[in-house]
Amino acid sequence: MNVLMVCSEFAPWAKTGGLADAVTGLANALVARGHDVRVLLPRYAHLPGPGVTLRRLRAGQHRFDEIEPAAGDRPAPRVYLLELDELTANSIYTADARDAGRFIRLASAALELPAALHWRPDILHCHDWHAALAPVLSRAAGATRRTRTVLTLHNVGYQGVFADDVLEQYAPPQLRAAIAPDALAGGDVNFLRAGVRAADIVTTVSPTYAAEIRTPQFGMGLEDALNARGATLVGILNGVDYDVWDPRTDPFLATHFDATSLATKLELKSALAARLGLQADATTPVIGIVTRLAPQKGIDLLAMALPELLRETRATFAVLGSGDTVLASTLAGFAREQPARVAFTDGYDEALAHLIFAASDLTLVPSRYEPCGLTQMYALRYGTIPVVRATGGLADTITHFDPATSTGNGSVFRDADAGGLSWGLRTALDWFDDRAAWPRLVANAMAADFSWGNQVPHYEDLYRSLL
Ligand code: ADP
Repeated sequence: MNVLMVCSEFAPWAKTGGLADAVTGLANALVARGHDVRVLLPRYAHLPGPGVTLRRLRAGQHRFDEIEPAAGDRPAPRVYLLELDELTANSIYTADARDAGRFIRLASAALELPAALHWRPDILHCHDWHAALAPVLSRAAGATRRTRTVLTLHNVGYQGVFADDVLEQYAPPQLRAAIAPDALAGGDVNFLRAGVRAADIVTTVSPTYAAEIRTPQFGMGLEDALNARGATLVGILNGVDYDVWDPRTDPFLATHFDATSLATKLELKSALAARLGLQADATTPVIGIVTRLAPQKGIDLLAMALPELLRETRATFAVLGSGDTVLASTLAGFAREQPARVAFTDGYDEALAHLIFAASDLTLVPSRYEPCGLTQMYALRYGTIPVVRATGGLADTITHFDPATSTGNGSVFRDADAGGLSWGLRTALDWFDDRAAWPRLVANAMAADFSWGNQVPHYEDLYRSLL
């Protein structure tokens, strides 16, 4: 099948979080299955970067740059960058009305790119609010259209809501007419709602999240539009790209390990502790956390539970995160007060993220909601045990360990509060101290297989059902 992916992030070109990993993993896995996959994203100011050759294309009002594949690359999707011209900015997102302009342009470019390529996509697969207007324009193009549209919701918490004058400023005339009335109400335009109404099928990134977002608690105001989709809203779990996340080969690690060489994991733990100034030997439980600092992620719950956890347990924390500055300074405060127990790195650091997943004993994902979540799946492969809240994809990937039967791959808590988090973590710390139970838990974690190869057939079935 011919698939055009439309998105704001694609690795390694533009990444701020899991969206990039998810779209890239899916696209690569589809290519590996023989599909012709092309990807369209904006040309941000930092692109293409050194040593990359671009080939200029033109379609309608839009200009594109095709990235020339480097020799010897594994088979990969072809990537096209949309010129943003006056809307170019120094960051991936501007978080102001210019983003509306940039992503309206992305949507209309998505419909024009195929002509420039003399290629017709069977599926226009759009990701998140940034691409959500492409299905609207596609539907407006009329009943003769042969391309089917899929909109994947990676996070319903981000909808692309703007004062509706952005349409006058940036949109082609047919767009305003095509947007569903309830997505254009009260003086605002809601890109994601418009896309949810217009796409041929809507997917999200885990079965549990697909059920949750139909409710007011998780739907973030879109629950009615999502419920109206009935069976055309489906949840498909994201996969992991184990070519990138594998303790046997990870290029970010100085040494490598697998389930039979866990002594090497201990070496990495010492290296991490030394680098971050933590005091941790083999018997100290190190909890690694790599996260955006946003309310969604529940790191404020950790901040609430931390004084007690530091007082009453031996837990030692290695936190890497960026985002909310108040939360960052709270975490930095803990690190200043107890530098041997808490390390906080403020920023986005791919290499340190890999080391933390590899070297820690546990990871903590206390999300209030989590569409899929990737970090818990990465951690598993490195024998790092996830402590997660039972929501969305966390609930679909992590099952609470039972030492009696040796089933399960992590610790799962229910309540999004400091008490719930503390219970989940303390339960896992007890297992850590149990010399019989812990190796069985680690073995279960490392054996879990969330490869894209398992997930891609679900997308293929979905695509086929539309054609
Ligand atoms: P989300 O997309 O909601 O942030 P996911 O768990 O789906 O959450 O994906 C997060 C991705 O971003 C993972 O690849 C994780 O390693 C990475 N990540 C998040 N924060 C950081 C950071 N501060 N430094 C490096 N990588 C990070």
